[in-house]
Amino acid sequence: MMTIAIIGGEGIGPEVTGEARRVLAWFAARRRLPVVLQDQAYGAEAYRRTGEVLPAATRAAIAAADAILFGATGGPELAALPDAARAQGGLLKIRKDLTLFANLRPIVSHPALYEAAPLKARVLEGVDFVIVRELNGGIYFGEPRGIETLPDGQRRGFNTQTYTTSEIRRVARFALELARTRRGRLCSVDKANVMESGVLWREEVQALRDAEFPDIALSHLYVDNCAMQIVRQPSQFDVIVTDNIFGDILSDCAAMAAGSLGMLPSASLGPADATGRRQALYEPVHGSAPDIAGKGIANPLGAILSVAMMLRLTLGRPEDAALLEGAVGATLAAGARTADIAEPGVVPIGTRAMGDEVLAALDRAN
Ligand code: NAD
Repeated sequence: MMTIAIIGGEGIGPEVTGEARRVLAWFAARRRLPVVLQDQAYGAEAYRRTGEVLPAATRAAIAAADAILFGATGGPELAALPDAARAQGGLLKIRKDLTLFANLRPIVSHPALYEAAPLKARVLEGVDFVIVRELNGGIYFGEPRGIETLPDGQRRGFNTQTYTTSEIRRVARFALELARTRRGRLCSVDKANVMESGVLWREEVQALRDAEFPDIALSHLYVDNCAMQIVRQPSQFDVIVTDNIFGDILSDCAAMAAGSLGMLPSASLGPADATGRRQALYEPVHGSAPDIAGKGIANPLGAILSVAMMLRLTLGRPEDAALLEGAVGATLAAGARTADIAEPGVVPIGTRAMGDEVLAALDRAN
């Protein structure tokens, strides 16, 4: 039996995670997936009940779980809590504590969504790439950081972008190995023209490729050019590797090739242990979306496709992963649309109804 800790979190997190949970339960019941699903408290609601954003029971469950299914965090309720309480249980802290250094964000264009996407259909043809975002370092964690008051009364906010050789090589190796299982092309993205951390990033990725991955075609782009290229011709990419903040921003941009931010899944992975297993957290790329939270209209497909990544990367079920991705494709091909992916004139369905459609497609395909 494998244990999945399920943490809905805030905003639309519990809504989309609820549908992903039903999909996991379907695989347990219908495909004999040996999993135990454990729902865990987290966030503003957990704080009200236990005084902690990340209660001890949830921490223990995370440590013991084979994988974590996470919804989203953030929004006004969390922002209203004391700084120390938020810092205690922040998602960034979970990522750091579990050493989840490699964040995989696949970007795939579904032909059924060409009309709904803001890019032209001919630009979307053949789009299938993965952004590997470094998740444990860079400016989100660098010290010193803070807001200080200067002698002249002004305030100054500051953060530090920092990367070491080993941090860069760890994620670059992961991305190079991933490229080897795909089309053999890696694009490394930095800002080496103005940032020393970017110079080091570029040198280290190139050196690792030259020493150990001569079969991989490596290119380099500055992040501003990469943002433009993702919109101009997203099909040119196979694997992109980049740092924490650039990966964060580029993947929201790349979401437009998939039709909506609500379509994107992700996997955050730690180092492999002696048996090859990795700590893993699966979550949609989007946040808590306070503007639509509680309305039952959020797109659950990013969360559901995160379950497909879990099936493939943690649960050792590549055929089930393909079954689920096929069911999502069939659901879209049949015309089911939440509001964010509805082309003009189409009446959208809600979060729960989209989950129902995916489950019905799984029933048909099984
Ligand atoms: P967001 O991703 O929550 O939302 C951006 C826009 O996309 C919103 O208009 C939202 O309605 C829409 N959207 C997002 N997911 C959708 C879905 N599944 N279906 C339909 N529409 C969807 O980003 P934001 O508004 O910048 O941030 C809101 C909060 O989420 C902030 O507190 C932020 O810190 C947090 N956040 C959390 C995570 C995470 O938990 N991993 C990631 C990003 C942002």
